[in-house]
Amino acid sequence: VISEGFFDQLAGIVGEGHVLRDPDLLASYVGDWTGRFSGSTPAVVRPGSVDEVAEVVGLCAAERVPLVPQGGNTGLVGGSVPLGGEIVVSVLRLDHLGSVEEEAGQITAGAGVTVGAVQRAAKAYGWAYGVDLASRDSATVGGTIATNAGGLHVLRYGATRAQLLGVEAVLGTGAVISHLGGLRKDNTGYDLAGLLCGSEGTLGIVTAATLRLVPQANERVVALLAFETSDSAIAAGLALPRLVPSLSAAELCLGSGIQLVCDALGLPPPFPQPHEAYVLVEAAATYDPAPELETAVSSLAGVADVAVAPDDLRGAALWRYREAHTEVINTLGAPHKLDVALPARGLARFVGEVSSTVAHVDRGAATWLFGHVGDGAVHVNVTGVAPDDDRVDVAVLELVTSLGGSISAEHGIGSAKRQWLARTRSQAEIEAFRALKRAWDPAGICNPGVLLP
Ligand SMILES: Cc1cc2nc3c(=O)[nH]c(=O)nc-3n(C[C@H](O)[C@H](O)[C@H](O)COP(=O)(O)OP(=O)(O)OC[C@H]3O[C@@H](n4cnc5c(N)ncnc54)[C@H](O)[C@@H]3O)c2cc1C
Repeated sequence: VISEGFFDQLAGIVGEGHVLRDPDLLASYVGDWTGRFSGSTPAVVRPGSVDEVAEVVGLCAAERVPLVPQGGNTGLVGGSVPLGGEIVVSVLRLDHLGSVEEEAGQITAGAGVTVGAVQRAAKAYGWAYGVDLASRDSATVGGTIATNAGGLHVLRYGATRAQLLGVEAVLGTGAVISHLGGLRKDNTGYDLAGLLCGSEGTLGIVTAATLRLVPQANERVVALLAFETSDSAIAAGLALPRLVPSLSAAELCLGSGIQLVCDALGLPPPFPQPHEAYVLVEAAATYDPAPELETAVSSLAGVADVAVAPDDLRGAALWRYREAHTEVINTLGAPHKLDVALPARGLARFVGEVSSTVAHVDRGAATWLFGHVGDGAVHVNVTGVAPDDDRVDVAVLELVTSLGGSISAEHGIGSAKRQWLARTRSQAEIEAFRALKRAWDPAGICNPGVLLP
C-alpha cells in the first residue's frame, strides 16, 4: 500500500498537475495499443526534466515503489503498461528537440520526442533519420531506444542501436548517466547506451539521446512485386539487398493480408488478379535508383506482375497496402502478436508451415503474416484467440526456435514473451542480465514484470 505522503512527495517534485490520479485521466496509460494488455495504476507521473526524473526514480527506489516507464505507448509486447499495479512514469514532457548539427549529421532529442519529429527536423537540413516505422508519430525516441526498434529500413541503416551516439538516462538508483557528446569515435569502455538500448525500461529511464543522421536520398522508387508462391517472394526478398545497393525496404505481404486491407479500407486491389504473395520494395539514392531496381527485378524468379509508383503519391498508396496491416488486423479483435526472426535458410519453411501449426492448436484461429523479409523478420499475428490463451504462442515460438530463429525480431520481450526468454538466451546469458539488473536497479523497481523470466 502506497501512502498518501508518497503522492505528496511526487507532487512536490513534478508539480501537482503532473501527478494524475483521476481514473478518467489514467485510462489511456493503462491499456496498450493492441488491446491485449491492460492493467491499473495508482498514478501517472509526468516529470518535465532529467532532474525531476532522477528525483522521482530516487523516491521510488527509497520507498520500493515499482514503476513502468512509458513513451508513446505503441509497444506491442505488453511492456509499457502497469500490469502489476506499478506507477507509470510518462516521459512525454521530455520533448526538447535540439537543432540538427549540420556538419556532423546528428541531433540530440529528449526521450519524449517522436520519431516523426526527428525525421522532419533532419529533413529540413538535407539529412534523414535511419529509423522509420508506421507508429512514427507516436513512438518516442526513449521508447524506440528502450525496445531497440527496427522498422522499415533496418536492412539499409540498422536498428535503433546503430543510430545511437550517446544516451542520457536515470538508472534505477536515481543516478544520472549522461554521455551526449556525439563523437563518432569514442572507444572508452563499456557501451552504456548500447546496454540501455533494448533494456525495455528494466534498468532505468532514458531521458535523451544523441542520434546519428544519414544522408537524405532524394531520388526514390517504390514498387510492388507480385509472386505466385510465397517461396519465390521470400527468395526475392532475401536476394534484393545484394542485388540493389540503393534498396531501403523489402517487405513481405501475403494475398490474404492484402485482401483484408482492401476490404477494410475500401482500397482497389493492387493488380487485376490476386496473387499468393507480394514484396513491397523501396530503393532510394542521390541518383535515380529505378534502373538498378528494374535490372534486379528482371533477374528474379517467379515474378508474376509489377506495379511501379510513378510519383510519391502513388508510392505512398503502395506503402498503404503494407503499413495498414497492423491497424486492420487490430479491427478483428486483440491479436496475439509474435514478431519473430528466422535464419534465411528457415524463412520459407516457417512461412509455409506456421498457419497450419496455429490451426492445429486452435481451429478457430486465423494467422496473418507480413514483415521485413529483407531482414528475415516476420510479424505473425493470430486472431480469434482469447488474450490469455497462450497455446498458439507456444506452438509458433517452438516452430521458430526449432528452425534456429529468435522469439523477438524487433518488438522486444515485454511481459508477453518473458517466460520464453530461455528458449533464445542461455542460462549464463540470463544470469548476466540479472547481474546487470541488480547493479543498475538494486531495488528492482524498474519495470519488474518485463523481460526477465
Ligand atoms: C502501427 C505500429 C507499427 C509498428 N511498427 C514497428 C516496426 O516496424 N518496428 C518495431 O520495432 N516496432 C514497431 N512497432 C512497435 C512500437 O512502435 C515500438 O516498439 C516503439 O519503439 C515503442 O515506442 P514508444 O515510445 O511507443 O514506447 P512505449 O510503448 O511507451 O514503451 C515500450 C517499452 O519501452 C519502455 N520505455 C518507454 N520509454 C522509455 C524510456 N524513456 N526509458 C526507458 N524505457 C522506456 C517501456 O517501459 C516499454 O517497455 C509498431 C507499433 C505500431 C502500433
